[in-house]
Amino acid sequence: MVATELKMTEQRGEDTLAKIVSLCKRRGFVYPNSEIYNGLAGVYDFGPLGMLLRRNLKEHWWRTMTQLRDDCVGIEGAILTHPRVWEASGHVVSFSDPMVDCKQCKRRFRADHMQEQGSTRCPECGGKFTEPKRFNLLMSTQLGVVEGEKMTTYLRGEACQNIYLDFKNVVDSTRMRLPLGICQIGKAFRNEVTLGPFVMRQREFEQWDMQWFCKAEEMQHWYDHWQRERFAFYQRLVNNHDHLRLRQHAQDELAHYAKVAYDVEYDTPGLGWKEWEGIHWRGDWDLSRHSEYSGKDLSYVDPVSNERFLPHIVETSGGVDRTFFFVLMDAYAEEPDKDGVRVVLRLKKHLAPIKVAVLPLSKKEPLQELSRSILRTLRPICTTQYDENQAIGRRYRRQDEIGTPYCVTVDFQSLEDQRVTVRDRDTMAQDRIAIPELADFLRTHLAADQLAIEVG
Ligand code: ATP
Repeated sequence: MVATELKMTEQRGEDTLAKIVSLCKRRGFVYPNSEIYNGLAGVYDFGPLGMLLRRNLKEHWWRTMTQLRDDCVGIEGAILTHPRVWEASGHVVSFSDPMVDCKQCKRRFRADHMQEQGSTRCPECGGKFTEPKRFNLLMSTQLGVVEGEKMTTYLRGEACQNIYLDFKNVVDSTRMRLPLGICQIGKAFRNEVTLGPFVMRQREFEQWDMQWFCKAEEMQHWYDHWQRERFAFYQRLVNNHDHLRLRQHAQDELAHYAKVAYDVEYDTPGLGWKEWEGIHWRGDWDLSRHSEYSGKDLSYVDPVSNERFLPHIVETSGGVDRTFFFVLMDAYAEEPDKDGVRVVLRLKKHLAPIKVAVLPLSKKEPLQELSRSILRTLRPICTTQYDENQAIGRRYRRQDEIGTPYCVTVDFQSLEDQRVTVRDRDTMAQDRIAIPELADFLRTHLAADQLAIEVG
């Protein structure tokens, strides 16, 4: 691509990002945290539509990773843990990003990001950089009430540590045998120095993690298995498959514990390839460190052979917020139409925050009554919205913009023939459907979409 084309593509990407940020605020997906106090950098709240989308994404991950398999179970660990956990994990010593400061404008950047971009001077003002310095990312807090006796610990810097701490409890309490996976979705906290854009890099965020425990000699088999599974999972989430890739970490990029690591990355408009999930070969680092630091034996005894050994671990660790962000970037589309531009979120239907909107063509009493009774029938099946304000075309656009897959329009003809118009978000095709068949129509179509993203 020549330089001007590249510049235009970047500009389009930045425009998309700005449009998504604005849509998210305007329609209730994402709000800046503590906005009335001018906000808190790197912290966000999720509004009515955003929390529904996140919940759908998490439920989808949870079903795929646990309910649809018989070798994975879940836990919900606490955000607070004993401070020794973070010494054992290596975070107290090495959980830091090398940073450079601009000597002129004093802005701070991640040294590895500057290196990736080939920037040897400040991208903002062209000033010279300082030598790289390290900043620990752990967020500390104090437990206890008596001054001078408080214990300093950390809000967890990654969700996975609870899984290592609970591994033995899970094996003992479930009688599961290796190989097995333990899954968790939970908040993590990091004093990130470089934030954003938007929810991409925050100080408080959520991760979905799976730690797979197996014998050392089976690691290659399982590493390959999880790499395939996780890549396929993300492929099923997006419309633009060419925006997804697996990238192997170079030796100097590997985390202190990792022997091999691949990232699932998304080619994000305006930002380039960004990490979505890491798939790490952690070996026996975690269990051996926690055995050493706690003085407790975390080895596993094979109930058949009586062999005792420390399991090795494959980790898949992805971000809920990055999924939210990438899925929105991937789904956002603008199409020319007779009124100008139609903005549509082509979210996978099963993930859309609102599944069906009921739209009476007029506010007149009999239409309202019929529409409300349809709404009552549909509510137990899926999330709904009722909208009777403004012209029908504008109401369709409002639903397109938040990704609602189906709109049900109730008109005066409906009072006579007991049929309604069902409009499909993607094709904009409109079908007349008998009201008693509406519930089944939606159940069947939404279930088909769920199946498609769960198993392909
Ligand atoms: P990055 O280099 O992009 O900051 P990381 O390599 O530090 O990410 P991991 O520690 O491997 O990330 O965490 C696993 C996943 O958690 C990442 O793939 C990403 O999706 C998510 N994640 C990590 N840090 C953040 C953050 N600050 N805000 C939002 N999501 C994050």
